[in-house]
Amino acid sequence: CSNPNRMPQPIEPSEHEERRAKLRQTLRLYRVQGWIVTALPNVRYLTGFTGSSGILLLSADRALLFTDPRYQTQATQECDCDVRVVKGPLLVEVSRWIQRLGLKTLAFEQNRISYDEYVHLKELGIGLRLKAIGGVIESLRAIKSSAEIATIQASVQLNSAALEQALRHFKSTMTEVDMAAEIEYCMRRLGADGTAFETIVASGERTALPHARPTDHPIRTDELLLIDMGASVAGYASDMTRTFAVGKLDAKTRRMYRAVLESQLAAVQAVRPGVTCSSVDGAARKVLRGFGMDKLFIHSTGHGLGLEIHERPRIGRKETTMLEPGMVITIEPGVYQEGVCGVRIEDTIAVTSSGCQVLTPSAKELCCL
Ligand code: ZN
Ligand code: ZN
Repeated sequence: CSNPNRMPQPIEPSEHEERRAKLRQTLRLYRVQGWIVTALPNVRYLTGFTGSSGILLLSADRALLFTDPRYQTQATQECDCDVRVVKGPLLVEVSRWIQRLGLKTLAFEQNRISYDEYVHLKELGIGLRLKAIGGVIESLRAIKSSAEIATIQASVQLNSAALEQALRHFKSTMTEVDMAAEIEYCMRRLGADGTAFETIVASGERTALPHARPTDHPIRTDELLLIDMGASVAGYASDMTRTFAVGKLDAKTRRMYRAVLESQLAAVQAVRPGVTCSSVDGAARKVLRGFGMDKLFIHSTGHGLGLEIHERPRIGRKETTMLEPGMVITIEPGVYQEGVCGVRIEDTIAVTSSGCQVLTPSAKELCCL
């Protein structure tokens, strides 16, 4: 595997400062003096810190990143805010700073904190009022900057290049695990940080399992092969599914493929700013209904992605969220017939001011290996 890709420019530190400024705008709205940010992807989004141990304390005029001694050098290189290296539990030092800065009301991430951490915060003493707030930073993250979109695009391109290279080594005697290993090897060689999620390789009737784990099941001819893969590049995820014919397929399976492809194209067609996520989901389902296959579509049509593989918005049946320029989502309808086979086709798509841009370059027409 050789590397034809150029890596994207890193996100500028000034962008982290801008993001913190946006979060500070919520302080008055929620009537708090600061935020305790405990979710690592959110800490990374607001500071640039990529380590596995970190808490951000953000007030109107301070931004303090707490981490452990393993990250002393890395944190100061990556972050443009104050870094406090702590021996022992981070929250002990965080609480000292809460008192030192005289903060009396703090927002915490209710969906991103452990019970232990919550209890610890509660025990800080009377006088500190905690406000449980969920999803605020995640909502900011839903709208990507142009630098973020460029990074996701690089991730998507690398992911497609990895699939192309891995397919060159495809042999019908391979197992699902062999193929997954080949894909992940190519991703690494092409410059990915790693996978964005566990690679799915499923063949034959296992394609009917939407989240199949690769097994030592050999990939056989005249069956389907479903590959769902994503790279992480500079922290940003890509996500793509392709379903291939290994050898020949019967007419019924080919019709299933055509239904999913038409459904996927219709949903992509529906993506533009100002439409609800549910209407995009509806566009995918409508086509499948025409084929009598809507009952076999058992998950939502797509999801946002970025620093995490599943982000806002969700492209689901009941999602009233409106698409906005800067959102990056997947469109991935699928049909699954238990014990027989399944087909899914997935692209990564950026919502633009006038419509959308399909970032995934890989072909979607039925391809025989
Ligand atoms: Zn996927
Ligand atoms: Zn996906």
